[in-house]
Amino acid sequence: MDLGIRGKRAIVCASSKGLGLACARSLAREGVDLVMLARGREVLEAAAADIRAETGVSVVTVAVDITTPEGRAAVLAQCPDPDILVTNAGGPKPGNFRDWSREDWIAALDANMLTPIELIRLTVDKMMERKFGRIVNITSGSVKMPIEILGLSNGARSGLTGFVAGLARQTIAHNVTINNLLPGPFATDRLKETMGERARKTGKSIEELIAERGASLPAGRIGDPAEFGDACAYLCGARSGFMTGQNILLDGGSYPGTH
Ligand code: NAP
Repeated sequence: MDLGIRGKRAIVCASSKGLGLACARSLAREGVDLVMLARGREVLEAAAADIRAETGVSVVTVAVDITTPEGRAAVLAQCPDPDILVTNAGGPKPGNFRDWSREDWIAALDANMLTPIELIRLTVDKMMERKFGRIVNITSGSVKMPIEILGLSNGARSGLTGFVAGLARQTIAHNVTINNLLPGPFATDRLKETMGERARKTGKSIEELIAERGASLPAGRIGDPAEFGDACAYLCGARSGFMTGQNILLDGGSYPGTH
């Protein structure tokens, strides 16, 4: 299926690795020109070079922390009028809520709620004027099935979800959609990071724990980031203009409910 977005411009946040990178790659395969960003320059440049070589699209890189106002300004200076915005940032640390300070909460809210909202604020009106816009927020399956040790993520991402639910109904008449993609376990560095604590407690290796986690899912495996990237590209497609405000789980069937 041709998604009809060749030549569109996308900002894909936190895209040097993992799910962000997979979204960038899938969009590039559809002919979308990219702005990719992450804090670490070296990995980012290598990822961008790989995508350029494979797809031939234009890829601009910006090495910034997207959770800072300076970082966001530097990205928007490269692409003030994106047609597509994929918001993403590192997830908050796991732990016990009794150990978290106000600063921990502010950092989580900044990264996983306020940064996407600010990026939307800075881009959505111009998308509405141009009568095309696709915004996808990478959130987490924890929005539907909170994960005990990820309280900072459960809380901050639920705030973003509530905000998006209200805004997404105001933009769709202008062919601007806003949806959230909710990853379950995918094979990325982040998954290994969140398994670290359990590996220490159980004495099992991270690989063992990942294999066990995969086997426990209805799919019998954990997700391939490419599957996530392709779902993101579909949501960004020209034919996705009738879907907005949705929270779409990609979790190998883990969530047992009907909605
Ligand atoms: P990942 O493999 O660790 O990749 C994270 C990417 O984000 C890297 O490119 C990293 O590069 C960049 N990044 C992190 N913080 C940033 C910041 N402040 N500014 C700019 N770039 C930043 O993680 P992932 O698995 O793709 O996860 C992406 C998101 O999905 C996270 O919020 C995670 O919590 C969530 N999630 C993931 C899973 C999963 O199973 N993978 C499940 C549920 C939710 P630099 O470090 O160089 O900045």
